[in-house]
Amino acid sequence: MDNRGKMEEGRKVVYWPRDTVTSRLDLAELERPALESALAELGEERFRARQIFGWIYRRGVTELEAMTDLSRGLRTVLATRFTLTTPQVVTHERSSDGTQKLLLRLADGLEIESVFIPDTPAMTFCISTQAGCAMACAFCLTGKMGLVRNLTAGEIAGQVRVLADALSMRGTAFNIVLMGMGEPLHNYDETMKALRILTDEHGLALPPRRITLSTVGLLPGLERLAREPIMPNLAISLHAPSDLQRGQLVPLNRRYGIGDIIDVCKRFPVRARSRITFEYVLLAGVNDSIEDARALARLLAGVKSKVNLIPLNAAAGIPFDRPSDASIDRFAATLAERGVLVSVRKSRGRDIRAACGQLIVEGPRKSPAQQLAIAAFGRQP
Ligand code: SAH
Repeated sequence: MDNRGKMEEGRKVVYWPRDTVTSRLDLAELERPALESALAELGEERFRARQIFGWIYRRGVTELEAMTDLSRGLRTVLATRFTLTTPQVVTHERSSDGTQKLLLRLADGLEIESVFIPDTPAMTFCISTQAGCAMACAFCLTGKMGLVRNLTAGEIAGQVRVLADALSMRGTAFNIVLMGMGEPLHNYDETMKALRILTDEHGLALPPRRITLSTVGLLPGLERLAREPIMPNLAISLHAPSDLQRGQLVPLNRRYGIGDIIDVCKRFPVRARSRITFEYVLLAGVNDSIEDARALARLLAGVKSKVNLIPLNAAAGIPFDRPSDASIDRFAATLAERGVLVSVRKSRGRDIRAACGQLIVEGPRKSPAQQLAIAAFGRQP
């Protein structure tokens, strides 16, 4: 089971939802309606799906055997038809500021990172949507890894199950931000499926307003997202006020420029009393001048927006510097004077490399063509 889907051997492997070894369905990969149908096919009552969802997502059970309000007979039948895959905690690090980082091992042996950030002001889980990332933003360490593979919906939602358990937070309210490894809109279907699973009223029932999806601005994905029934908060990683500057930092900008992204944002169905967050990593001498702040304020006029400034988390291999506190303040003040709502993100968990853009694990590096194929087909061709 453990080497299921091992990619470095170049074998063609179909991952999920069917367990390739036993051809059982993986409960972690099923939305509740799909589980209801699967149970109906077995001649079981549909409401059993609600019970099972409650066990998995509310109570954090990882074994069918523990679902004690199902009869022993039913549990035995279910065990022949279903498995439940859960990411395994490999390491659990705690930062001096309360941030915690978990290294999780997936069923195929691949490792990913998820982060817990307390009191920001809410409790927040920072979740990955891909192993690695294909976006290659110039200041991001995850981007240096390249894309290893998309995560499945069960692996994305599974991080929330594991974190809630590891942090003893079952039954406590928390937010999730899709700001870990990966670009959520580059793994659109699995990401949205994970959100449907996490918001299901019979499971964790996470309110969509407690979820933030952060994206570099993949335009077709943004347009699709605007039509989704489940609407998370939106954060756009902007980082520069002009295409010339942004193209140097975010390669994708050469395909989908700032004007198009802002247009979609203006039309985006933002929830009442809510705003689109524009994330802006501040890089000394690159995008932190007063002129840049003024241009940013002009750009955002007419968008229901707020700006989150992220002073660079510097790291070896990242060819930029963090601006001085004085220039960070000056940038923020220039925005505020022009009526822009602005906050400065406090860097958390730097001592355990859990801060923004620092999530990186060892993995086989893929060529850009392989990365596109992985994103398109969910696995290696
Ligand atoms: N791909 C998505 C989700 C990643 S979120 C996105 O780009 O939005 C991670 C956030 O951290 C993004 O805003 C990203 O630009 C930012 N980030 C990346 N590297 C960073 C670094 N070295 N210092 C500070 N922020 C960084």
